[in-house]
This record gives sequence, structure tokens and C-alpha cells, in this order.
Amino acid sequence: MRAVVNSSLPIAAAFILAASRQLLPAGLLAAVAAQPLWLQLIEVFLVADLGFYAVHRLFHSIPALWRIHQIHHSIEEMDWLAGARVHPIDQILTRGATLLPCFALGFSAWTIAVFAVAYHWHSMLLHSNLRLSFGPLNRLIASPDFHRWHHCRDREAWDRNFAGQLSLWDFAFGTAYLPKGRQAERFGIGEVLPETYPAQLLHPFKRELRPRDSAAVQESG
Ligand SMILES: [Zn+2]
Ligand SMILES: [Zn+2]
Repeated sequence: MRAVVNSSLPIAAAFILAASRQLLPAGLLAAVAAQPLWLQLIEVFLVADLGFYAVHRLFHSIPALWRIHQIHHSIEEMDWLAGARVHPIDQILTRGATLLPCFALGFSAWTIAVFAVAYHWHSMLLHSNLRLSFGPLNRLIASPDFHRWHHCRDREAWDRNFAGQLSLWDFAFGTAYLPKGRQAERFGIGEVLPETYPAQLLHPFKRELRPRDSAAVQESG
């Protein structure tokens, strides 16, 4: 089953890519590819993180997707490896929303590769157990402080700070949460998840899985 999924994904991605290339105007693709690499690189970061923001917001707003995404949110201590605790379906949809638009628009493979490496290291920094702020740059680039609030268990911080790299998207769309002089302290979803990898893979599909609200109500009650 897993082999079938793994082998069919690149085929599906290639199909989506080819279809989107046909739909986009050839003039747009040529204009994108003709730009200097430094400009393409900036645009790749903007396009990719806008895709990340959009799909991440969907993961929080659609209950069936939240069941999958809460595997990532179940961490109760921030840790540099926490960024890797992600359900495969979450990873596939997130990577698709992030990278497919960049490939479809015809950005240079070099700029997309630079983005992918930066994303990897930035994700480890965001999840590390550091109380690190970027000062005035917090409104532009996601800092560990910014992402700690995304993982915060307190009700006021739920469904905030969706951006993976560029916090500017959250400030633009009104979903940023970065209170002055305070730090996120409590993390997790108020529910203990199974510890093994196979059990976590199956957990989102269990019928008795509680929605986030009921977990919070039970905790406070
Ligand atoms: Zn999230
Ligand atoms: Zn995270």
C-alpha cells in the first residue's frame, strides 16, 4: 500500500504540473524564467510560503485535516526535531502546496533548491527550544518566538501564526499573534497521543478522536 502511494505521488505531481503549465500563459512563464536569479529567489520564498500559509490554515479550519495536523501539534515541549513530527499526509499536502506552484510558474530549479534547504534549517530553528525573537524583523520573518505561539496550548493563541517562513503573511491576513513582553509557555493539544510511529499514523482515523475544543473543555473542567 505504502509503495503504491509512494510511486503514484510523483506521477500525480507530474500530471498536476504538466496540466498547470498548459493552463498558465506562456508569456508569464517566459517572463518568470527571464528574471535574474536573485529576484526569482525572493519570489520563490513569497510564493512558496503563501502556499504554506494557505494549506496550513486549511489544516486548522477543516476538522478532517486538523485530525491529521494535530500529530504535529501534540508535542508538549519545543524541540528542534519537532518539525519532523508530521503525519505523511500532512507532509504531502504541505509540500505540494509549497513547491508545485513554484515549479508550475517555471522558477529556476536552483532557486527552488535554495528555498528547500533554507526551509529545512529554518523549520529546525523555529521548533528549537529557544526564546528567540527577531525584533523588528518579526513582522517579516518567522522567529522561534512566533512559532512557539502557534504551538501554544492557550485558547487565545489557537489558529494563529500559520506562516512557515514569512510572518508577513500572517500580518497581512490578520492572523498574527505576538503579544509584547509575553512568551508562549504551554504547548500541545491537551491530549496524550500514542507513542509509536504506526499508532500515530492511524490515530487521525480513529473514530473516538476528540476535537480540539472538547479536549480543552475537559482540561479546564
Ligand atoms: Zn499548525
Ligand atoms: Zn510547528
